[in-house]
Amino acid sequence: MIAEMPPQLSLRTPIEELHKCGIGRLGPTLSHKLALALTTHLNRRTSTDVTVEDLLNYLPMRYEDRLKPAHIRDLKPGVEASLELHVKLSGGYEVSGRRSFRRSRLFIFEVSATDPERTGRDVMVWWFVSGRRSYDIIEYYKKRLARGCRFITFGKWEWDSRRATFALQLHKPADELEILPPSQAKMDIDEPREDEGEFEEPETDPQLAVIHTGRRVPIYRKLGEFSSKRLREIIHGILGELPEMPETLPADLRRRQRLIDRSQAVRLIHFPDEETPLSLYEQARSPAHARLIFEDLFWIALGISLKRGKRIKEAKSAGIHIDRPIKDRIGRVLPFKLTEAQRNVVKEIFKDLQSEAPMNRLLQGDVGSGKTIVALIAMLAVMENSYQTALMVPTEILADQHARNMKRLLAKTPYRVELLTGSLKAAEKRKLHADLAAGEIHLIVGTHALIQESVVFKNLALTVVDEQHRFGVMQRAELRARGMNPDVLVMTATPIPRSLTMTIYGDLDVSVINEMPPGRTPIETRVYGEEQRLEVKKLIASEVRSGRQVYVVYPLVEESEKIDLKDATRRYEYLRDTVFPKLSVGLVHGKMKAADKEQVMRRFVAGEIDILVSTTVIEVGVDVPNASVMIVEHAERFGLSQLHQLRGRVGRGAEKSYCILLTSDKKTADARERLGIMAQTNDGFLIAEKDLEIRGPGELLGTRQSGMPELSVANLVRDQLILENARKEAEFYIGKAAKSAEAAAMIERARNDRRFGLANVG
Ligand code: ADP
Ligand code: MG
Repeated sequence: MIAEMPPQLSLRTPIEELHKCGIGRLGPTLSHKLALALTTHLNRRTSTDVTVEDLLNYLPMRYEDRLKPAHIRDLKPGVEASLELHVKLSGGYEVSGRRSFRRSRLFIFEVSATDPERTGRDVMVWWFVSGRRSYDIIEYYKKRLARGCRFITFGKWEWDSRRATFALQLHKPADELEILPPSQAKMDIDEPREDEGEFEEPETDPQLAVIHTGRRVPIYRKLGEFSSKRLREIIHGILGELPEMPETLPADLRRRQRLIDRSQAVRLIHFPDEETPLSLYEQARSPAHARLIFEDLFWIALGISLKRGKRIKEAKSAGIHIDRPIKDRIGRVLPFKLTEAQRNVVKEIFKDLQSEAPMNRLLQGDVGSGKTIVALIAMLAVMENSYQTALMVPTEILADQHARNMKRLLAKTPYRVELLTGSLKAAEKRKLHADLAAGEIHLIVGTHALIQESVVFKNLALTVVDEQHRFGVMQRAELRARGMNPDVLVMTATPIPRSLTMTIYGDLDVSVINEMPPGRTPIETRVYGEEQRLEVKKLIASEVRSGRQVYVVYPLVEESEKIDLKDATRRYEYLRDTVFPKLSVGLVHGKMKAADKEQVMRRFVAGEIDILVSTTVIEVGVDVPNASVMIVEHAERFGLSQLHQLRGRVGRGAEKSYCILLTSDKKTADARERLGIMAQTNDGFLIAEKDLEIRGPGELLGTRQSGMPELSVANLVRDQLILENARKEAEFYIGKAAKSAEAAAMIERARNDRRFGLANVG
């Protein structure tokens, strides 16, 4: 009989089929579970397309040096150490006196243990257990950490003076404690060990011990039900079976940047060598990290450079001069005194407008910092020079609000302001198109409708794009092509770190408004759980009683749009009919007809609606100074920058305002960390940096719009210098592509690789 050959393992092997390759004691069920866990982690839709490559991109969160585990006699208070220990005694007990304060009871699980050579007094390892399943958890650990069991644990040891021994508190025992196979060493085991749980079959294979001890080992965050140790075993198995991985970066580039080869880097990042200091690994600065980070960033940089194409260098045709009389006339339109920051930015823009080269400027300013008026001043300067100008915004509601404000402000000037959106009747649109072409409209406000084929300007000289991160690079280029190579001013409330703007927008100039208009009271932000709904209700009631208005926002995710919409609608009905039957409650969402949406927004702006339930359509720009409370439901589903934008909708008047971030019970550690930052700071820049760190650039810039690939190793905040290098190399390769077949082939590969989202690059 001929045994079936196991399939050859490769980077493209689906995780679902890992068991067929005989990896890491996996059966079909576990392979499937691993694929599912990885799919969830990666936010993918189907589990069939997660591969070995994806698993190898699941990097250790830290490393432990188990080459020479420490001994008890070496411990020092406050110093981290990894210890291999034998259990002497373990058990859980309830913490008394805390019950009246907490809903759930609180327990401590405690292990007293010794090192194999008994170099000091028995140490304590302990952690808190709470929640409904406390008893199960305690039982589970009692079994797994019965007398005689071996485990490895790592952390900061403290001196416990009451017990006169060292103690270590764990925060996530699943990550910080690792139970080892039964030892060959003689320990007095007086209890038979029971089955160890679902997939941790009794490990009799002494080979396994070689993976987990006596070397530097990776510690992974738990993935689904797969513990760090289990993942280590699987990844070790994969690396053992996997043939050399194909090299992706050109040899000359690797030489110049001193990067090790890919195969070696992937192996080392999981199982560090003994030569490189472990601290370099922990800081993501080992040669393995350097290589993989560079690769991540290089492909992004290459993709963006390709997308951006050649920047238009020829001189613009509009000649703009801004003299004293023009400045005076503009000054008369302004409803308030500009802040110092606004004045500085206006100066910079005026300089650009009057120069020969087209302006390409990014205006960054936190929500509410007053970008609109700056844009209007620039547009007025252009109109005073008899040119047309356009303001492009991402939503109809926002377009409508801007158009109305500008019409009001410019009522006494000779300039005609119009609104062009997709929801206009065909006849109305035709009329607007004709008037634009004839130069009878001076300032046009609109959505994407502005960049449709049939729109022709007589003499467009300045385009302002509000809330840039919602627009793609492509659309901006289109708009640019529509005019006479106009000046472009892009406004964003998302403070993008400098190096990132460089990479994404190339040689864009950046202006920053770093000062708020006077008379603002800081917004108070609170993170609440389900059990605090009553307080939320009281807050809403009291604010409405004193004449203020409230936003209640629901997330609307494209993937689960229908369910989300139902959710928001149901809550709206509940608030209207049951919770606040005496108040006026409104609903607005993206799927409503534009006219209906507008109707609701108008009523909210006019103060006829007390509580506005909405999906994220209100996220950008709409200004209702009387609104003082922002409630965000399922806050954990929003990105930080998005939350910051939402929060910016309140606190626009002098009254105190509140932002309540409501989360469901199942907060992940990530979400908790993120939301905590919101309560700590109102600084949009800090928040954006944090967001970038936690969620990557895709979230910050809008993945779909920006076409940014997900990063596996790189961190755009931490790795800005590497990014800068990668950008230079990318430019170099694009320049070289015409001359070298190798460079051209590499660029072609990048174009065709779906990971880089470049398929539609022209
Ligand atoms: P954003 O930068 O978020 O677009 P806006 O331009 O909408 O902010 O401005 C927020 C609010 O602050 C608006 O109501 C605007 O009228 C007001 N505002 C802007 N600049 C000033 C200023 N210098 N003094 C007083 N109020 C101002
Ligand atoms: Mg704005």
